[in-house]
Amino acid sequence: MDVLATPPANEPTPPRSGPACVACGETAIVHWLRRLTDDELDEVRRTENDRRAEVLRLADPQLPPPEFPPLPTGADFTRAVYSCGPHAITMDAAALVHASSCTAPNDADLPGCDCTPEPAPESPIEAAPAAPLPDHWVTGGA
Ligand SMILES: [Zn+2]
Ligand SMILES: [Zn+2]
Repeated sequence: MDVLATPPANEPTPPRSGPACVACGETAIVHWLRRLTDDELDEVRRTENDRRAEVLRLADPQLPPPEFPPLPTGADFTRAVYSCGPHAITMDAAALVHASSCTAPNDADLPGCDCTPEPAPESPIEAAPAAPLPDHWVTGGA
């Protein structure tokens, strides 16, 4: 048996450079945000409850007990959805926060999705300027 003809057993595979597409597992190149599902939110809250229990356990009994704000709600979190190029939704849709139930990227709905994303937040940058810019500040102006 010719040992040299055998490919090395542990051929180094290039490490994945980032997250994978949710739909096909290819390396993701874009992402957008969606709200957490009830299960995901439960998990976040459970982790936070555990953390608080630990803080209480370690708290100095000489001091007043620590107080905590209300537990986070779904509105406090988003989760990134990763996608490769072919599975990407439109750029406009990707700029918005999607519902927890959104199934994108999903071949059936591409390049859209099956939820109604949240409206975009008001951006002060895009608001009209208070007064017209001087002519020499306008592209193509004098
Ligand atoms: Zn994909
Ligand atoms: Zn969606």
